[in-house]
Amino acid sequence: MAKRAFNTIVIKVGSSSLTTSDGKLDLVNLKKIVTEIAALVKAGKKIILVTSGSIVCGAEKLGLGKPKTIPEKQAAAAVGQSRLMRQYEKAFEEFGLTVAQILITRDAIADRERYLNARNTFNTLLTEKVVPIVNENDTVAIEEIKIGDNDNLAALTASLIGADLLVLLTDVDGFYMKNEEGIPYFAAEIKEINKEVESAAGQPSTQLGTGGMITKLQAGKVCADAGVYMAIINSRKEGLLQQLVEGKQVGTIFLPKESKLDGRKRWLVHGLKTEGALIIDAGAETALLKNGKSLLPVGIKAVQGKFQAGALVAIADEDEKELARGLVNLSSKELLEVIGKKDVGEAVHRDNLVIL
Ligand code: GLU
Repeated sequence: MAKRAFNTIVIKVGSSSLTTSDGKLDLVNLKKIVTEIAALVKAGKKIILVTSGSIVCGAEKLGLGKPKTIPEKQAAAAVGQSRLMRQYEKAFEEFGLTVAQILITRDAIADRERYLNARNTFNTLLTEKVVPIVNENDTVAIEEIKIGDNDNLAALTASLIGADLLVLLTDVDGFYMKNEEGIPYFAAEIKEINKEVESAAGQPSTQLGTGGMITKLQAGKVCADAGVYMAIINSRKEGLLQQLVEGKQVGTIFLPKESKLDGRKRWLVHGLKTEGALIIDAGAETALLKNGKSLLPVGIKAVQGKFQAGALVAIADEDEKELARGLVNLSSKELLEVIGKKDVGEAVHRDNLVIL
């Protein structure tokens, strides 16, 4: 493989990296992270920071303990986001760097025009040598429009701007695989996120963040499709970020796929949420996977969920293994009337279809 060149880099800091053992904002680690990022910016790298910690930071100020209800979490996020930004702004100022706050929700990504607009904004900020600092807009994000965790948010951001590398800074050294006896061992490189890797991920591990290894693997899949390397490294150890960017082996690195999806297909497959599923027969599977054809109603066995024309749906075989995703030409109601029939147009046009 060619030598890795990491120029545009998204760095995600998890809540666990920004919180002390007694639940306070960890300013020492925040400053350490900023110092390392500033050095990269000075060296000419384009860096986008995705930070968690608004809820933890706001809860501390409000004396809420660990907020439980959604209004409590959203109130904590509203208080915490500005506290967090204040600290980042001060820390980056020490290095003469300007920051910008970008708060994202799923709908900003799901709408193609807004998505492209966000990309232009990022590019302008990076050209101006500003460090964009991204978080989800937790205060207004309700379930339907939520990305939900910052691992996925960071991966979507990396895909959006076509980054070379996504770094997940966390409180563990990297990813652990499990051997046949179920005993964990450290994995320096993951070539592909397959079933074996997924089963090693287990349950979300941190009490503070939303993520854990499961969301990190979801992020890894988004990155793999987008041609972006992803690394998990320990946020508390000195110098790792620098070494990683220089191409040294630190933490766990996840390799991208050799042929990445183009920008629109990436947006389609990961930017949108699936609203239903189409179960297809073996003939349609061959047409899609081998012959590069569109999906026709004749090959659809069942329609799951309720959706409008234009929705993103999963396309699965009869064992419900997801094979592809695509934007449907017909609503679920219309599809139910035509499935199994010939010569009734296309259910999903090839251009709006991504094989997984
Ligand atoms: N957006 C959340 C926060 O700032 C964090 C979500 C996450 O940790 O994944 O508190």
